[in-house]
Amino acid sequence: MPNVEILAVGSELLTPERVDTNSLWLTAQLNELGFEVTAKSIIGDHRDRLTLAFRQALASADVVISTGGLGPTEDDLTRDCAAEALGVPLDAVDSIWEDLQAKFSRLGRPIPENNRRQSLVLQGGEWLANPNGTAPGQWFFREGKVLVLLPGPPRELKPMFSNHVAERLRPLAGSNVLVRRTLKIYGLGESAMDELLAPLYGQHPGVSVTTLFTPLDLEVHLLASGATSEEGLLKVSPLEAAVREVLGLYVYGERVQSLAEVVGAQLLAAGKTLATAESITGGLVAQRVTEVAGSSGYFLGSFVTYSERLKSELLGVPEGMLAQYSAVSWPVAEAMAAGARSRTGADYALSLTGYAGPDGGTEEDPVGTVYLGLAGPKGVETKRVKFLGDRELVRSRAAQAALDWLRRALLEG
Ligand code: ATP
Ligand code: MG
Repeated sequence: MPNVEILAVGSELLTPERVDTNSLWLTAQLNELGFEVTAKSIIGDHRDRLTLAFRQALASADVVISTGGLGPTEDDLTRDCAAEALGVPLDAVDSIWEDLQAKFSRLGRPIPENNRRQSLVLQGGEWLANPNGTAPGQWFFREGKVLVLLPGPPRELKPMFSNHVAERLRPLAGSNVLVRRTLKIYGLGESAMDELLAPLYGQHPGVSVTTLFTPLDLEVHLLASGATSEEGLLKVSPLEAAVREVLGLYVYGERVQSLAEVVGAQLLAAGKTLATAESITGGLVAQRVTEVAGSSGYFLGSFVTYSERLKSELLGVPEGMLAQYSAVSWPVAEAMAAGARSRTGADYALSLTGYAGPDGGTEEDPVGTVYLGLAGPKGVETKRVKFLGDRELVRSRAAQAALDWLRRALLEG
């Protein structure tokens, strides 16, 4: 399988504010075409450093793709450095300059002389039209190796890759395609999952397994190559089945599905509705649920009841109960869920009350303690969970736990 190296160019990508997302998007496209990305780097706008990066990448990869640094200014060095690394001159292409002049005059703006730089093309290469910006891309092929230069802004790069680069790369991909399956998992720790999965790996050579940990859940990626996607699937499927078997209900979805999407689909299929009563999460569960298009089909609404007064007034939690047990307690979580269900008429209601920190909490219920309530057709259940992490993480994890609880309840019917 031919390999690709990606160079993301731009000093702004080396600051804490900016992330190189182009290479992630490109990697997904390249994998689909049957290329493996074997290296990528981020290089600032430094002439020597960038030239060196092109030299090294061209020496080791079959295909080198750069993004960024094709603008008209002095610090847009990609063209110059690529030419230097290849040892070819840059030729001025009149038709590019004419196109640029036309673009500017349509906008009623004078064209800066600087933009002439953008009409320079690697000698022997081709230029790629950029309908969404000023910087054309470039395609250069020599001795079986490809160099592609693309602009940095994602809205310019993506259509250029899809419309011009993908079809040119396809014949070079050889006959192999990569097949990827992604499973989403909730409720297991990193090492617990690894212990469960480790025995499986050796039994399925030819499939590479990557586990990914986010603060909220886990992902298992299974990757195999084959002459066709059917052949790739034939390798991946047995391992996928084994992983699903071992992890059971911890697997909640596939690919890019969120837990809220999975729960939403369950509610829709069952024709059931949901309401939430949120204290600690301040509406975060409702936010996740309503992020999903079509959630109005099953989500009725949320009570964000932060104060004791609103817990009483809106949800009917008895004042005496709040005084006796405090707002963060089993009975209050139960009363919140029951109140939300009865006052909205929803089939299910989730409640959350807890201590997000950094201050607060009690000896028995330290910061990170959350009481969850789930009211449904079979009655009201409560549980107490302790989450690690700072305020943001505790709230975020509590919301995820509530959704997962509902998912499991809906599976039981
Ligand atoms: P322009 O003609 O717009 O200057 P350019 O090819 O010179 O195009 P850059 O100046 O390097 O591109 O980047 C322009 C903008 O594109 C950046 O400010 C950034 O918002 C976005 N961008 C650049 N590189 C990346 C990247 N690797 N991932 C995500 N966004 C990027
Ligand atoms: Mg630029």
